[in-house]
Amino acid sequence: MAPKPLIAGNWKMNGRLRELTELEAIAAGAAEAGAGKDLLICPPATILSASVGLLAGKTAIGGQDCHAEKCGAHTGDIAAEMIADLGATYVIVGHSERRGEHQETDAKVRAKVEAAWRAGLVAIVCIGESEEDHEAGGKLDVLGRQLSGSLPDGVSAANTVVAYEPIWAIGSGRTPTTADVAEVHGFLREALSERFGAEVAGGIRLLYGGSVKPDNAAELLAVENVDGALIGGASLKAEDFIAICRACP
Ligand code: PEP
Repeated sequence: MAPKPLIAGNWKMNGRLRELTELEAIAAGAAEAGAGKDLLICPPATILSASVGLLAGKTAIGGQDCHAEKCGAHTGDIAAEMIADLGATYVIVGHSERRGEHQETDAKVRAKVEAAWRAGLVAIVCIGESEEDHEAGGKLDVLGRQLSGSLPDGVSAANTVVAYEPIWAIGSGRTPTTADVAEVHGFLREALSERFGAEVAGGIRLLYGGSVKPDNAAELLAVENVDGALIGGASLKAEDFIAICRACP
């Protein structure tokens, strides 16, 4: 049986108190558009607490990143335990913007996954190839390395989601072909199966992310082994996010 789809929104560094109205609109549409799926919004840390209150029981809330340590002298960072403390249940780790802008290695991402589990959060582990790797035909090697390096032992369907996000597709309006997405997701399922066994691998949700919009969501979400989407820009408007949820089979 295919895993229950997850439609996740990543608000990145967007969203002030006034944008909580978008979350109210998502909460209003969640029951109808989210039937049979899990919905998740990852707002910035500054409105995490308010978001948990607004979306309680309708849409899960997650952090966008966490530090690997529980507490300590890490100015500006947020521990997984702090995210869980607010009532959030997921955290994104290894997003290409973290890997690129903050030089996060696979080893660092792996430590963050362990931190997320320690705090009882589900880790959404992002991987994705650059445009050069895509053009050169080396994407599966890159993705295989990122996957094995970013995931600790102990992965289960309950504690981990994997998001395939080609870097060149993020925020660009460009997407891979559905054949490319099918190839990558099939490869990821197989790699997970080899390491964690077929039963665990079959239950892990594999999200596609990168320029998912209301008008391409149905096509992308229908691809084999795509168990949902991670959405940046189009998750900022409730109307678009809800339309994508509806498009998910
Ligand atoms: C993202 O950054 O996770 C993302 C998928 O962004 P966008 O949907 O805007 O391409």
